[in-house]
Amino acid sequence: MTTVQIICPSCKKTGYIEISDDLIKSTSRGLLAVNVTSNYVCQHSFIAYIDKNFAVRDYFIADFQIEIPDFPEEKKIKDISLPDKAILNLDLIKLNMTLTLLSNILRAIFYKNKIVLISHQPFLNTHIKNFFNYIIKNTFDFELFIISEEEYKKEKKSFKDCLVLEGNKVIKDPYKIIEEKKAKVERQIVNQFLNEFDLGYSYITLINEINKAYTYSKAIVDFANTQSQEEEKESESSIIASILDEVVSQDKYINTVITDYLYNEFKIKIDKVYLSFLFDIVINYFDVNLKNKISVNP
Ligand SMILES: [Zn+2]
Repeated sequence: MTTVQIICPSCKKTGYIEISDDLIKSTSRGLLAVNVTSNYVCQHSFIAYIDKNFAVRDYFIADFQIEIPDFPEEKKIKDISLPDKAILNLDLIKLNMTLTLLSNILRAIFYKNKIVLISHQPFLNTHIKNFFNYIIKNTFDFELFIISEEEYKKEKKSFKDCLVLEGNKVIKDPYKIIEEKKAKVERQIVNQFLNEFDLGYSYITLINEINKAYTYSKAIVDFANTQSQEEEKESESSIIASILDEVVSQDKYINTVITDYLYNEFKIKIDKVYLSFLFDIVINYFDVNLKNKISVNP
């Protein structure tokens, strides 16, 4: 048995867990995910990711689960062969890429932000590159540069627009897109991937989640583009209405219109958090401001 110190990611309270050496040894695939239930360290429940040297590599807050909407059967990818291990070794990805790092890269892709990943493990570079090429195939365009620390230092200027990541650390975030609390959907999707033992299933599920995010946000964009785009004439009532009221009611109105649209089109009920995740993609990736497309005044 080895005692491992853990720190609650929510309240930072410290606790200890015992892990048997056999258990760590048997975890050949990825990191060991330990479920810490509430009332063990503190009132929170979370998952600690532990590597074979008994070091905690990352945490996932399990308290708050977002209801991720379903994806119509006909849109789901079901059969997909795993890539050749020489091209993309998923075990290596799961062993070496943390939840935080993978979520941050995904988030940058959803925000159309170029990414620099500073790598200290050159043997991994091709696998990481291929991993994203495979899982994002046919959906989002993205630019990911995987370089050494030296290269980064030399070329810093040419990467000034990029989100720069080094392991769990955010080195540079020029557009302030990484705020852990707001990347909940990305973290949940990645946690699902890392936590699922069946390699093929975890891989397909991740691809489907990315497809889903793309399909739904793109559908919102297409729908918004069919709405009246006439220059909004300022009516007397909108001048009279206080600006704040107007903003609030327009937000609410857009939420309702889009929720109804997604229900009619895909038969899905959409969670508030997931909807705002889609809206972030709509505005940041597709560069569409729904407020200019969908107006309260008929
Ligand atoms: Zn806590």
